[in-house]
This record gives sequence, structure tokens and C-alpha cells, in this order.
Amino acid sequence: MDEVKPWFQEGLRFKCTGCGACCTGSPGYVYLSDPDLENLARHFGLSIEEFGRRYTRLVDGQIALLDKPGSADCIFLKENKCSAYEARPVQCKTFPWWVHNLREPKDWEEAAERCEGINHPDAPLVAAETIEVQCMTYLDNLVETNFSLES
Ligand code: SF4
Repeated sequence: MDEVKPWFQEGLRFKCTGCGACCTGSPGYVYLSDPDLENLARHFGLSIEEFGRRYTRLVDGQIALLDKPGSADCIFLKENKCSAYEARPVQCKTFPWWVHNLREPKDWEEAAERCEGINHPDAPLVAAETIEVQCMTYLDNLVETNFSLES
């Protein structure tokens, strides 16, 4: 049987410019898996319980990062940079290789309207194999956060 190739089999262009748009403004949640919580707590020298008390909330039964008070900006964004970059959650690490950005070309083009690094003229071509690995990592992590794909 022939292997079904993804529509992005020639690869896709992406390079983060560090503009910070994905960490600010628009409503959205960064959901945390247990490994995310462990990594972040270690990064800040806190117990998981203390990290949870200071920096997380429950959203529909899932643990998510807080926003900065009075804004929709990520609590860890400092001077437009991620202050938890080395320990950032899988959801952030795997952006923009999320399944809903990759279902069809239209999804990718819509994602590009929100992220200037997508299809950026200076961006390298990321191979389809790399994209698929990232997308699987994102999906595996969703399972760890008890996320429902139906929700
Ligand atoms: S919106 Fe895109 S280019 Fe800007 S910081 Fe986020 S990933 Fe990087």
C-alpha cells in the first residue's frame, strides 16, 4: 500500500523572530502536563505544589499557567522574553507544529496571520519528518494534560 504523504511533504518555513505575539494579548491557555510542571518547578527552585499555587489555575479541569494580572500576557513574559525559556512547556516548545495548524494549507495560512515567523522570508525550510515528530510530541503531551480533542 502506498504511504500517504502529508500536504506539507516538501516542508514548511518557520523561524521564531521573538516578537512575543504568541505569549501576549489573545485569549488562550498554556496547559501543563506533569513533566511540564516538574520542569517548571525545578527551574524556579520550587516544589511542584508551591509552583502550582503561585503560577497555575484550573481551566475545565486542566492545569494551565496564569496570565499576568489584568492582561492576557503569559505570567512568565518579562521584557518581551520568556523567563522560563529553558523549561518552557511542551505546548510552547512545539509551536507552531500543532495539529490544528497542520490539517490543511488553510490552517497554516491562518496561523501565519497570528505568527510572523510562519512563512517568514528568512525562515529555514523545516522538513516534514521534523514537523511530524513535533506534532506527535504535541499530541502526546495533550494526552498527559487529559485534554479532550472533542472539547
Ligand atoms: S508569534 Fe511566532 S514569531 Fe512571534 S514569538 Fe511567537 S512563535 Fe515567535
